[in-house]
Amino acid sequence: MAGGRFIFLGPPGAGKGTQAVRLAEQFGIPHISTGEILRNAVRDGTELGTVAKGFMDRGELVPDEVVAGVVADRLTESDCETGYLLDGFPRTLAQARALEQRTGGDVGRVVYFELSEEEVVVRLTGRRTCPSCGENCHVKYLPPKIEGKCDKCGTALIQRSDDTEETVLERLRVYREQTGDLVGYYGDRKVLTKVSASGAPTEVYDALNRAIGRE
Ligand code: AMP
Repeated sequence: MAGGRFIFLGPPGAGKGTQAVRLAEQFGIPHISTGEILRNAVRDGTELGTVAKGFMDRGELVPDEVVAGVVADRLTESDCETGYLLDGFPRTLAQARALEQRTGGDVGRVVYFELSEEEVVVRLTGRRTCPSCGENCHVKYLPPKIEGKCDKCGTALIQRSDDTEETVLERLRVYREQTGDLVGYYGDRKVLTKVSASGAPTEVYDALNRAIGRE
């Protein structure tokens, strides 16, 4: 089966990115992570990066019009013709409405990854990321084979500047206040599927496939 539109919703640290990479590959659709687009822009020192950096470092959302513009541009690229997987977008009702306008109301399937706030804090503060290939690991639950080095490409791992405890707590607050409403919004439209995000990545992936009817 190829193609399809998906939105991955859920708190930071629920493993949306990890699941998105696999599902997008299976469906042959691009994985569009707004967090990754913005981090790349910061790293490359582009105009977008300059605008986004302060918000990201504080754990706040980048303004709707900026992010909605980025996504609108990305969706015009030819690889999105048969579908796409949006990871980390929309995050506000305004972004959800902007997307709906763009897609003529057909948003596709929305998968909501559920995880307790306690687990979010443990996962994110222990997360280490490869600045080169984007691979993630966890100091306790998924330690790299060689301490401090990426399993995939050997680059020295870093802690994302927004994965410190203070910023994680702020990101959770922002999630609760600004993104939480989207669960009800998409639930009312009968396009929402819930998946438990606690458990190992393979277990979550199996649950995801069951939830979207691909057992
Ligand atoms: P993520 O990698 O999805 O956790 O995103 C990292 C950071 O990028 C967030 O804490 C926000 O500052 C910013 N960001 C990512 N996606 C969005 C979005 N849809 N709207 C606003 N800000 C975003």
